[in-house]
Amino acid sequence: MNSDYENVRNGSMRFHDEEVERYRALLDYGILDTVPEEAFDEISRLAAYVCKTPISLITFVDESREWFKSATGFETDITEVPRDRSFGTYVINNPGDFLAISNPLEDDRTRHNPLFNRLKDINFIAGVPLADDAGHKLGSLCIMGFIPKQLSSEQISLLHTIARKVVLQLEKRKYVAEKRERQVAELRVAPPAGEQESNGVVRESVRNPFVSSLDGSVSETRDEPLDFNPEADEESPAAIRNEIRDRVGDLEIQNRKLLVLCEMDELLQASRTEEEVYTIIAHYSKLLFPEGSGGLYVFNDILTILECVSSWGEINSHREFLPDKCWALRLARVHMSGSPSRELYCQHLNHSEAVNYFCAPLVARGKTLGLLYLQQPNGSGNEADAYTQNTYDQHIIATAAKLSALSLANIKHHEALKNYAIYDSLTGLFNRRYMEETLKREISRVTRNKEPLGLIMVDIDHFKQFNDAYGHTAGDMLLKSIGDFFKDSIRREDIACRYGGEEFVLILPGSSLENTFRRAEQIHDDIKRVRVRHRGGFISSVEVSMGVVVFSEHGNSAEHLLESADKALYRAKTLGRNRIVVA
Ligand code: GH3
Ligand code: MG
Ligand code: MG
Repeated sequence: MNSDYENVRNGSMRFHDEEVERYRALLDYGILDTVPEEAFDEISRLAAYVCKTPISLITFVDESREWFKSATGFETDITEVPRDRSFGTYVINNPGDFLAISNPLEDDRTRHNPLFNRLKDINFIAGVPLADDAGHKLGSLCIMGFIPKQLSSEQISLLHTIARKVVLQLEKRKYVAEKRERQVAELRVAPPAGEQESNGVVRESVRNPFVSSLDGSVSETRDEPLDFNPEADEESPAAIRNEIRDRVGDLEIQNRKLLVLCEMDELLQASRTEEEVYTIIAHYSKLLFPEGSGGLYVFNDILTILECVSSWGEINSHREFLPDKCWALRLARVHMSGSPSRELYCQHLNHSEAVNYFCAPLVARGKTLGLLYLQQPNGSGNEADAYTQNTYDQHIIATAAKLSALSLANIKHHEALKNYAIYDSLTGLFNRRYMEETLKREISRVTRNKEPLGLIMVDIDHFKQFNDAYGHTAGDMLLKSIGDFFKDSIRREDIACRYGGEEFVLILPGSSLENTFRRAEQIHDDIKRVRVRHRGGFISSVEVSMGVVVFSEHGNSAEHLLESADKALYRAKTLGRNRIVVA
């Protein structure tokens, strides 16, 4: 047994209780001062990849130092730093679960850290604690880079997921080591019979089925086959080997799932429409849980129900349901079923059949956008394994749901911004949506002030022919020039907007019918002078037709007024174009 451990146990070390427990837990893992192991290096590489930084570290903090189990992206002979100058100590003592420091050489917490004195170009470090199931923070998972940066919330969330994976790897190591110890002890007390083969040769691999390398890393012997029957003795070396193989297999699957999550995140960030997001979520959910089925639900804002917008495989959940039918939505966290017997079933499930399922709410920026529902085949393995697997899957699903929700929220945000844009990009005039809102507002205002309001609808005559003759680009230039013309020819209180392709609306608050008509005439004459450059020369402009209306004579609401203007414009067209018609 480790002497430090003895010291801690007999109380000769001066730690307070919590620290003693933490240190005891760390020593129990037997990880300190072991050689590099690919499993840990792989995990730290993943952290660097996710955070897009060149360097990452997996460290453990004991009573006097921060020791590096894995270092990716840099070569150094430094394998540990004194505890009181280490970054990991700040990470494990930080009340939050994430710590980032920019310009570490200027920060009091990191300035004296020998690592940064050696790697002077490092300008950014961030880390999350490695906490075991009991909550002991054993060390840290850190990433470092040359440029100060801000990690996104998705990256921080993935760092936590990866940190969890480090702890699972520790658990696996410990499990293997304990099994090995038990096995060796059993074989020591076992009777010599069978130890020697009939020819007298001692089978070393049978006596000591697992080799513990001097460095402390655990590996499995690949020597001769063993004669034990795993069915007959489940603690036999062969059974243990099988178990280890299963667990290594589990870890490999978990590793792949993390990589799939990273890939999914990349695509989600590049997606532009909600439909793209739906497709990505469905595709990657299938990759993450190939044996399962599932569905993506989003809120129908008008009906306040959840609607299934995408599903894969057969699902046992209703296509539409009210949010209070789902525990995950009520609790705003993942709700999962373990064994069907101790189940609190969501009411959107079809109760005739017991299923193993997860519901993960899609929550972003404090708003619930939907639900990711995943259904797994009912497991036949032992309950403890299923529980561990479910806990890990729960983590993966929660992360997938978080990434999906953020992506959906971003798209909704951009769409909202687009809708809020008030200008037409080609002409620089107000757009139709803004005009309609403004017209309503102006009508209320002139009604209060008992004033009139004039409105002119303008449509270019034979614009299609113009495009056909000179090309679409020249057509665009003409629209832009007409936009400039309107901006120059209206008063400050007037509003000019592009109503559609080659249609415009001018709102003249306070303008009587007579005045509006006069303004229309002026515009009708002047617009002919708008010129467009084309192939070194100028194209003579176009003629327009106009419909003139006034509030409230021709309509007592924005809709009615626009409708009347449209009718007047249509009459101007049918009467031969190039004219003004009053409704
Ligand atoms: P009318 O006198 O009856 O109004 O005939 P018109 O050709 O002007 O009207 P029509 O509705 O038949 O065609 C409208 C044309 O306007 C067709 C379309 O290509 C063109 N158009 C619409 N928006 C744009 C645009 O942004 N740029 C260009 N260059 N052309 C546009
Ligand atoms: Mg036209
Ligand atoms: Mg038109």
